[in-house]
Amino acid sequence: MNSDNREYVNWDADIPVIRYKALDDTGCVEHGFSTRLGGVSGGHFRSMNLSYTRGDNKEAVDKNFERFCSEIRIDWKKIVSTDQTHTANVRAVTEKDAGHGIIRPKTVFDIDGQVTNVPGLVLITNHADCVPLFFVDPVKKAIGLTHSGWRGTAARIGKNTVEAMTEYYGSRPEDIIGVIGPSICQSCYEVSEDVAEVFLKSFRVSDRLVYEKPDHKFQLNLWEANYQVMVDAGMRPENITVTRWCTGCHPDLLWSHRKTGANRGSLAAFLCLK
Ligand SMILES: [Zn+2]
Repeated sequence: MNSDNREYVNWDADIPVIRYKALDDTGCVEHGFSTRLGGVSGGHFRSMNLSYTRGDNKEAVDKNFERFCSEIRIDWKKIVSTDQTHTANVRAVTEKDAGHGIIRPKTVFDIDGQVTNVPGLVLITNHADCVPLFFVDPVKKAIGLTHSGWRGTAARIGKNTVEAMTEYYGSRPEDIIGVIGPSICQSCYEVSEDVAEVFLKSFRVSDRLVYEKPDHKFQLNLWEANYQVMVDAGMRPENITVTRWCTGCHPDLLWSHRKTGANRGSLAAFLCLK
C-alpha cells in the first residue's frame, strides 16, 4: 500500500487539484480530484460545486466544470456522468455517451462505475465522503472510475470494474494501476452494527477494517475494504495508492456529507485517456 508523496496538491493554486503520481506515471491519462476551492458557486455551495442535482444554479456549475477541466487539460463537454444510486453496476461507455448528464440529460440510470477505452472521453464520479476508485491499464489503454460507498464496497463494485475492463478491453488485473481517492476515514465513519456485520462477514477482519470502540460503536474503514476488494480482484498491492485525505477531517477543504449535512456541494473525480 502506498501513500506519502504519491498523492499531491497545491493548496495555493487558484484551482487546487488532488493528483496521484502513480497515474501520472502511466503516461496515458489526465486525472484529478476536486476540492471545495477554486469555483464560482455561492452560498452553501461556495465555491467549487460539481453537481447539478443539489440546487445550485446551472450557470455556476457549468463554469465550475469548465474551470476545473481546463486546469487538468480535458474537455468538459466530453464528460460522461453517472447517477450513482449505490449499486455495483459498471457500464462501458463510448463516444456517443459524451456529455451525458452534463450538456445533455441523463438517459442511463443506476450506474456507479464506468469503463472506457475511448481517448478524450472523460469519466467522472461525484463524492462527499463516498470512495472514488481510479483504474488505469497502461498496457491495453483502458480506464475505469467508480463510486464506492459502503453499499457499493460491500457489493465489491471495484471488482466488477476490474472484471468489466477484462471483459471489454482484455485488461489483466495485474497490469492495472489503482487509486483509492479522497473520502471518509475510519475515525470519522461510525456505522451501525448492521453495517459493521456486513463487512465482518465477507471481508478479512481486523481492527483496521472494523474497529469496535469501548462504547460499542463501530468504525468502518472503507479504504481498507476497497483495498481488499482490489487485491481480491487480482490487482498487485504495490499498484494501489491509498489516499491520505479524509473528507470528514477536512470539511473546510473537501465536501463531507457527514460533517455538513445535505446543504453542501459535491466533489468530483475525473479520469480521461489521452
Ligand atoms: Zn477523518
